Amino acid sequence: MLDRPRPVFSEDHGIFRDAARRFIADELSPHADAWEEAGLVPREAWRAAGTAGLLCCDLPAEYGGPEGDFGHCAIVAEELARANLSGPGFVIHSDMVATYIAKFGSEAQKRRWLPGMAAGTLIGAIAMTEPDAGSDLKGMRTKAVRDGESYVISGQKTYISNGQNADLIVLACKTDVNAGAHGISLIVVEAAGSNGFRRGRNLAKLGMKAQDTSELFFDEVRVPLENRLGEEGQGFSMLMTNLARERLIQAIRGTMVAETVIGWTVEHTRERKAFGRTISDFQNTRFVLAELTAKAAAARALTDRLIGLQLAGELDAVEAGMGKLFCTDLQWETVDRCLQMFGGAGYMLEYPIARAWADARVTRIAGGAAEVMKEIIGRKLFSEGKR
Ligand SMILES: Cc1cc2nc3c(=O)[nH]c(=O)nc-3n(C[C@H](O)[C@H](O)[C@H](O)COP(=O)(O)OP(=O)(O)OC[C@H]3O[C@@H](n4cnc5c(N)ncnc54)[C@H](O)[C@@H]3O)c2cc1C
Repeated sequence: MLDRPRPVFSEDHGIFRDAARRFIADELSPHADAWEEAGLVPREAWRAAGTAGLLCCDLPAEYGGPEGDFGHCAIVAEELARANLSGPGFVIHSDMVATYIAKFGSEAQKRRWLPGMAAGTLIGAIAMTEPDAGSDLKGMRTKAVRDGESYVISGQKTYISNGQNADLIVLACKTDVNAGAHGISLIVVEAAGSNGFRRGRNLAKLGMKAQDTSELFFDEVRVPLENRLGEEGQGFSMLMTNLARERLIQAIRGTMVAETVIGWTVEHTRERKAFGRTISDFQNTRFVLAELTAKAAAARALTDRLIGLQLAGELDAVEAGMGKLFCTDLQWETVDRCLQMFGGAGYMLEYPIARAWADARVTRIAGGAAEVMKEIIGRKLFSEGKR
């Protein structure tokens, strides 16, 4: 039913998907439990993924990339979601950090950083959120003050994915504290050799445990001016441009998780018996799964449409916001209602659904809360009404 061909993907994408699925099954999934326990994915896994062409898929060969397109990036996100892996943070690295450098970096910056990112020898993080500024990023306090040929950076970030592993941090900070959103710039901090840079705790989380999430501290860290991406004061608009892609990736993951979890639940309820019949014999089970399947089909149609727009360079913030809102809500609804049909087993971490449930909760918060998505969509509705 849901496994019809997807026209947004080509034959080449199909071959890549098979290879990605094999790589994940052979090289990543066997370590998933250990990484959940450790709260971190070791650097070797990043290098192996780089060698296999799973990182920064849409980078051209001149920057060390595998010369794919956004479809290949979407496939990596889908296959990691299908495998129920909470780490490694490849999509943040490839779809957010590398994308900022590829899109807004100078030629010299691209040549310096992108080949290592595609190879998995340089791990990237994006640091926007602060203890007192998350949804409202304009309120960030981390600042970069010019001093000769350098910026001197002071401040604190939190909840930063890949924060423990990161070699390169795309840091959003204020270069003009009096200019609101127009005072925000993006500066790349290279962790090695940056005096005054310190990683704080790898934060203990409810889910997504294999992905390191950290506090980062900057105490008068001196960074050359040439590490700034784009123009001074343009950081906020760069963030807004790229967040659409991040939100689409979350929609893609959400849809794949919903489809996958429905599949596990069909299998489980077919086997498990109560009151002399299988759980799937109860009409409630079939009705719930039918309803979720219809919604997952709608989410699939939406995400494929948005992937097509992103491939054409046309995806906008409102469309991405709709995708994230709908698909992550559905992800949550699906894992929660399906977990119910597993009974007590669903609460046990030895069953994948328990981990999928814990991992799903964050998707309606990170990358912009559901309410913020509604604001973005609502604003557009009413601004159009004014014309
Ligand atoms: C696991 C994880 C990984 C993360 N990774 C990163 C990362 O790599 N880099 C990074 O910079 N950040 C990261 N974040 C931070 C994440 O993007 C923020 O948590 C998120 O944007 C929400 O900000 P906040 O936590 O400050 O919540 P707040 O801004 O305090 O908002 C709290 C709640 O208030 C409500 N709310 C907020 N604004 C509105 C509004 N306009 N209208 C109505 N209700 C509203 C929402 O319900 C929201 O959830 C991560 C977070 C988590 C949990």
